[in-house]
Amino acid sequence: MKIITTVSEMQQQADDLRKQGRTIGFVPTMGYLHEGHLSLIRTARSHADTVVVSVFVNPTQFGPNEDFASYPRDIEGDEEKAEKAGADIVFYPEAEEMYGPGFSTSVQVEGLTNRLCGASRPGHFKGVTTVVSKLFLIVKPHLAVFGQKDAQQAAVIRRMVSDLNFDISIITAPIVREHDGLAMSSRNKYLSAQERKQALALHDALESARKMAEHGETKAAVLILHMQQRIEREPDARIDYIEIVDTGTLEPVSTVHSRALAAVAVYIGSTRLIDNCVLG
Ligand code: AMP
Repeated sequence: MKIITTVSEMQQQADDLRKQGRTIGFVPTMGYLHEGHLSLIRTARSHADTVVVSVFVNPTQFGPNEDFASYPRDIEGDEEKAEKAGADIVFYPEAEEMYGPGFSTSVQVEGLTNRLCGASRPGHFKGVTTVVSKLFLIVKPHLAVFGQKDAQQAAVIRRMVSDLNFDISIITAPIVREHDGLAMSSRNKYLSAQERKQALALHDALESARKMAEHGETKAAVLILHMQQRIEREPDARIDYIEIVDTGTLEPVSTVHSRALAAVAVYIGSTRLIDNCVLG
């Protein structure tokens, strides 16, 4: 497996691969890889000849009071895990390599980014769409894999790819969970043992809403209240949002239809966790 740290080398490598007729599958990550990321790498592996994984903790998608500085990093561990999962190249640039002096361009998807995480993390999606656009132009993939864990991000990326005519297929891969149901996340590392137990409330709440919907409950307000009450049982939980939205538009729905998405963001102590599930 190759480690590439410069934009020029990555672009050269991508050109060479394309000249050889090889398809490039791409998995963008912020590193500290876990089974969720590895499932994305395996998905890319099954669809492409060459798999590129980027590891880049992108400063521009963090707010001033967020965890950019403390975000967990472990590049040696990441290289080993990525290689085992089937990656051929890890692209691991420094921030200065990605954002040169005078950098002043951004890519912004309107509408879809106003809601859910976009409402509580202003500027976050602008950072994401800008860096993903850059990565697409550097890695030149034929396809890219994103996790359903970040359902809004996946929807925003699909919108951007369609609107800007990126010639890239977007694949969304299912959420990978710990044995007890907690969605895997690099941020789970922040949780104390006590908080780790309380963090289960997110999945519990979503699962019970899913079951209620399966048994015929169609009122979003009832399901939301139920999830809220479950999460509020945890002493260190603070709800950022609990919403039921249309999977395509991300607009709230009042009646649960065939593909409504229940999405939650909850602080457990100071760690902000997100999770979601499709109802119906
Ligand atoms: P991150 O490193 O958190 O920026 O995530 C990189 C990619 O991995 C994104 O497409 C995420 O949606 C995806 N991802 C993160 N956690 C999971 C998970 N538990 N299951 C599936 N995909 C995930």
